[in-house]
Amino acid sequence: MERKRVLSCIQPTGELHIGNYFGAIRNWVNIQDKYDCVYGVVDLHAMTMPYDPRTLPGNTVQMFIDLMACGIDPERSVLFVQSLVPQHAELNWIFSCVTSFGELSRMTQFKDKSDQLQISQKGGFISAGLYTYPVLQAADILIYKANYVPVGKDQEQHLELSRNIAVRFNNQFGTYFPEPEPLFTEVPKLMSLADPTKKMSKSLGDKHYIGVFESEDSLRKKIKSAVTDTGMQSGSKMSPGVENLFTIIKACGTEDPYLRLKDKFDNGTLQYRELKEVAAAVLVETLRPLRERRSELNADRKKTERLVRELSAVAREFAENTLNDVKKLTGLIV
Ligand code: AMP
Repeated sequence: MERKRVLSCIQPTGELHIGNYFGAIRNWVNIQDKYDCVYGVVDLHAMTMPYDPRTLPGNTVQMFIDLMACGIDPERSVLFVQSLVPQHAELNWIFSCVTSFGELSRMTQFKDKSDQLQISQKGGFISAGLYTYPVLQAADILIYKANYVPVGKDQEQHLELSRNIAVRFNNQFGTYFPEPEPLFTEVPKLMSLADPTKKMSKSLGDKHYIGVFESEDSLRKKIKSAVTDTGMQSGSKMSPGVENLFTIIKACGTEDPYLRLKDKFDNGTLQYRELKEVAAAVLVETLRPLRERRSELNADRKKTERLVRELSAVAREFAENTLNDVKKLTGLIV
């Protein structure tokens, strides 16, 4: 039986944090044997919000390297940089013509992001790109004829739009695209270390997150100063900070210390110092091989940059075939 195809993309935002790793990337790594996986670093999407053109290329290559360091294996999966596959942008245009103005206007993420821009920049510039980027996202997915897209709740609406676009295209021009489905996987959600009521995110500031490739020293310091609570009584409910440290230990796959500490918590004898020491130790061990792989890849940056182009060419060939079919179906000259 033919394997189903999965597509997932990430913006080159600079640095991956452990929330991204445990909440998304590690799942991408794990499903490589089960599906035909296509993963992209989507630099065109990064242009929809204010950005620095001097740092974008470096961030794009670094994100590519970081995905490989995390375990995305180009022998098993397709890995590409979006702007090196210009067919995405071409399909985006064709899809814009089968997307209604009304359905784009209902995208809640546009409302959230444009409000955010308006507040942070006091009436700042809101591009049409920000408005239409769900169409580019549909092109990212459908150009590879993906069956599944791993999504979080915040992206469900965009995936529904991709499905609508596929259905409308198929009705208008003849059945061609699969209707992509969400791939829901149980993944942990990591909270900020400094304010564990909020989701871990880089935008909250340095002390709120741990970078996947952060130095061991800095990682230990951040865990040490993670917010917990002032103490506990036996049988009490976990505070968000304590729960977050347990989530980290569990995410590292270390069942024994997790159960041992959980027992201590349940009978009211857990010292938070011990909880933090274990969390830091298992995290350091989990991330060490990733950091080592990253150093190896970064050691010969020229070679890696060549690899980025070579691997993206594989995606380009696939995308070009789709685009040629689409052009024929839609009445364009090939
Ligand atoms: P973002 O850059 O915020 O779009 O995140 C990229 C991926 O990482 C998405 O799949 C998010 O769901 C996931 N992610 C981001 N922050 C966290 C977090 N704190 N815990 C778990 N997953 C996260």
